[in-house]
Amino acid sequence: MDTISHALWGKALFGYRKHLYLPIFFGAIPDLIPFIPNLFFKLISGQFSFGRPSISSIPEWVFTLYDFSHSLITGVLIVIIFYLLGKKSLSFASLAWPFHILVDSISHSKDFFGTKIFWPISDYRFDGVSWGQPEVWFTNLILLIIIFYIRRPVPLILAWTPVLSKLFKRKK
Ligand SMILES: [Zn+2]
Repeated sequence: MDTISHALWGKALFGYRKHLYLPIFFGAIPDLIPFIPNLFFKLISGQFSFGRPSISSIPEWVFTLYDFSHSLITGVLIVIIFYLLGKKSLSFASLAWPFHILVDSISHSKDFFGTKIFWPISDYRFDGVSWGQPEVWFTNLILLIIIFYIRRPVPLILAWTPVLSKLFKRKK
């Protein structure tokens, strides 16, 4: 899935307890770990261009970082480490990381950044449907809208209640 959607999923599912915004970061970080250094590398070496890069133009170390950050083993370890350190709210917020990996494993085809969910133990990749397919991306968008609607901080009618009750208060 695209990085923005991952960030929004992090907020939608895990950003409503103590850490309201950190799950946005945890949702995006598996993509940031390989692609931010790659972006700097390209800018510095003058190879920067817009659009989808060809697989052969991407350096090997980007794939290694990608495999590391897109392994369920990494994501779950982070959650467990926070938990064992007694940082339960951080542990909850960081669930956005393994969730990112689950979403990617079904929304990437095997050939373009297929997600090796058990890396480095196994190179197994589930052959998902690319998120670039409109039916996948729009389903993603609709699900996000539904969750954000359900999770909206205060139902609108309740937020307006004090105002409404003032407006309709009978004058004696
Ligand atoms: Zn990803």
